[in-house]
Amino acid sequence: MARPLEPGSIVDCHTHTCFSDGAGTFEENARAAVAAGCAVLVCTDHLTLPASMDPAGEAQVVESDLPAHRAAFEAARDAHPELEMLYGFEADWYPGCEADVHRWSSGAQVLLGSVHWLGEKDDGAWIDDTSDLSIWHELGPDEVWRRYVRAWCAACESPLAFESMAHPDLPERVRPLGLGASIDLAPLWDEMAACAHDTGRRVELSTAALRKGVGDYYPARGLFERFRAAGVPVVVGSDAHRPEDVAYGVTAAYAHAWDVGYRVVEVPRADGGWEPMPLR
Ligand SMILES: [Zn+2]
Ligand SMILES: [Zn+2]
Repeated sequence: MARPLEPGSIVDCHTHTCFSDGAGTFEENARAAVAAGCAVLVCTDHLTLPASMDPAGEAQVVESDLPAHRAAFEAARDAHPELEMLYGFEADWYPGCEADVHRWSSGAQVLLGSVHWLGEKDDGAWIDDTSDLSIWHELGPDEVWRRYVRAWCAACESPLAFESMAHPDLPERVRPLGLGASIDLAPLWDEMAACAHDTGRRVELSTAALRKGVGDYYPARGLFERFRAAGVPVVVGSDAHRPEDVAYGVTAAYAHAWDVGYRVVEVPRADGGWEPMPLR
């Protein structure tokens, strides 16, 4: 049985290793988590992708590495009995992804759902690749936002068991680059909150936005308040891509969630299932 969690324990539900696009190993992330006083660490490398979306295999755990990925996770977990580590993936949603995601993520304890890609798998673009922002210039920020929300709601409606929807307003990533939407986002936020509620999804409160100069969390406060009002459960993650960012800002994120009206965050446990953890 997993140990009972003290209220307000540090839990990081979103972290990457060098098997996908992170810098550290499982072992380095585990050590960083222990040093940060983390009680539960969820490892969520980017899941395998179709070749058309990542031809060089840089952003994902490539299919042939999946067994080694699993073995490296287990070695780090077994070396750190003081830390509860869970095996998961961050999976991209794109039209028609379901069978592939299901197959590639077999054995995962946690599956995060993300939309970083807009369009069909053979004809689309990353919206958060700051080295190629052509989709933003072609469509304009308002249209990227509208298409993003359509894709995000489709991801929520997917039969895949996404247990938490990561960084719900990822398009905010490029606002500091002068690519913020000019339309009022409130109607799109309302749509997202209703969709998360109706499909029974949890949403992530991500501290990554703070490291990207966005000036707020993902989700922005207006969207976060709507999730809260709709009764959508919240999960906290750093989206660390370096060991030094593991558990980054989690305690401050708890205070922020409290301020918005949340009294618990949801935590996945190594022995299965999720439980609500009081914030204080
Ligand atoms: Zn992501
Ligand atoms: Zn991530």
